[in-house]
Amino acid sequence: MSSFPRLILRKNKADAVKRFHPWIFSGAIQRNEGEIEEGSIVEVYSDRGEYLATGHYGTGGIAVKIFSFAPVTDLPQLWFDKLQSAYQLRQQLGLVNHPETNCYRLVNAEGDGFPGLIIDWYNGVAVMQAHSIGMYQQRQLIADLLQKIYGAELDAVYDKSASMLFKQKSPNHADEYLFGNTNAIEVLEYGNRFQVDWETGQKTGFFLDQREHRALLAEYAKDQKILNTFCYSGGFSIYALKAGAKQVNSVDSSVKAIAWTKDNVELNGLRQNHAAYVADVFTFLKDCDADYDLIILDPPAFAKGLSARHQAVMAYKRLNQLAIAKLRPGGLLFTFSCSQVVIPEYFNGAVTAAAIEMGRSAKILHHLSQPADHPVSIYHPEGLYLKGLVLQVGG
Ligand code: SAH
Repeated sequence: MSSFPRLILRKNKADAVKRFHPWIFSGAIQRNEGEIEEGSIVEVYSDRGEYLATGHYGTGGIAVKIFSFAPVTDLPQLWFDKLQSAYQLRQQLGLVNHPETNCYRLVNAEGDGFPGLIIDWYNGVAVMQAHSIGMYQQRQLIADLLQKIYGAELDAVYDKSASMLFKQKSPNHADEYLFGNTNAIEVLEYGNRFQVDWETGQKTGFFLDQREHRALLAEYAKDQKILNTFCYSGGFSIYALKAGAKQVNSVDSSVKAIAWTKDNVELNGLRQNHAAYVADVFTFLKDCDADYDLIILDPPAFAKGLSARHQAVMAYKRLNQLAIAKLRPGGLLFTFSCSQVVIPEYFNGAVTAAAIEMGRSAKILHHLSQPADHPVSIYHPEGLYLKGLVLQVGG
C-alpha cells in the first residue's frame, strides 16, 4: 500500500475522473484521510473505496490536479517516463535537431500529462514554469531528469515559477537556475534569429505558440504594408520583413519589448522598412492611417477567469473593430485570442460583431489554433487557449 494520503469523493463524482479529466473540483470531495496540505500528493478514491487517480492537492477551486490514473509506486520513474514521451513527441514532430528551429515547447501542462507545468526549450536551456505548488515541489527532480534526457545538450535549467506562484517574491521562493547558468541566448525559429531573455522577459521569454502563424504570415507579407500590434519581441515583424514586406510597423506598450523588437530586427539584418512604437495599441489604432494591407492583433489574455469573460469578449470586439477600420478593402486581418475562457465560438462571435459594426464584409481564410508542440489532451478541452482567424476584409 502507498503512503499517500487519501481523498474520498462524494457519491457519483467519480465519472469525470474515469473519463480521464485531470481536475477534481473542491465540491466533489467528501473527506480526506491523512494529513493534506497545499502541494501534497494524494490518492483519490470513490465513495465505494475504489482507487481512481493520484495527483497534487491544491486549496483553490481545483482540489486535485491528476498526474496518474494508476497507483504510483515510483514517482521519479513516472516523471521520467512522462518527460521521455514528451521528448519523443517533439522528435516525432521533427522539432528535435531541426536544422532551422532550435526552440519548442517540451511540456505543455495537461496536454503532456503534467498538470500545472510548462517547460520551454531554448537551444540548450530549459525554462520551467510551475503553476501549482505540487509541481513546484518537483522542480529539482524534473531538472535532474532533463539532464538525463538531453545529456550534454543541456546547458541550463531555469525555474521561473516563483514570480508566478508567489505574488510577493521572497528569498525562499525566487526564480533560479536549477542547473547551469546561462542567460539570454539566441534561438532560431525557421531560420529567423531571436534573442530570448527568460529572466526578464514575459512568460518563459518567447511566445513559441505563434511559430506556425508567423510562418503563415510570411506567405502573405511580400510587398505589403503591415501593422504588428502587441509585437513583444517582434516575432511576426521579423518574418514579414524577411518575406519582403514594403513596410512593417511594430507596436507594444512595453519599452523593453520594443527594444527587443529593434534588437531582433537588427540581428536579422532587416533594419530597412521597419518602425517600432511604444504605444497603447487601442490609442495607436485610433490615430494611425487607414491604408494597411495586413494587421496582426495578438493581445495578452484579456480574461484570466470566467468572471472577466464578458468584458474580454467586448474588448476583443472593440479591438478588432479598430483594426478593421484601418485595413484597405481586400486587406488581411490576423487576429488572435489567448484567453482560455473565451472559447473559439465566443471569439468568432466577437470578430463577427466587429465586422458588422464596421459595415465591412469579411471572409475567413484560416482557422488557427495551437501548434503541435502545445498539444491538448482530448479529455481536457480546457487546455485549448490559443485561437485565431485570418480574415480578408472587403469594402
Ligand atoms: N505577438 C507576440 C506576443 C504578444 S504578447 C509574439 O509573437 O511574440 C502580448 C504583448 O502585448 C506584450 O508584449 C505586452 O507588453 C503587450 N501589451 C499588453 N497590453 C498592451 C496594450 N494595451 N498596448 C500595447 N501593447 C500591449
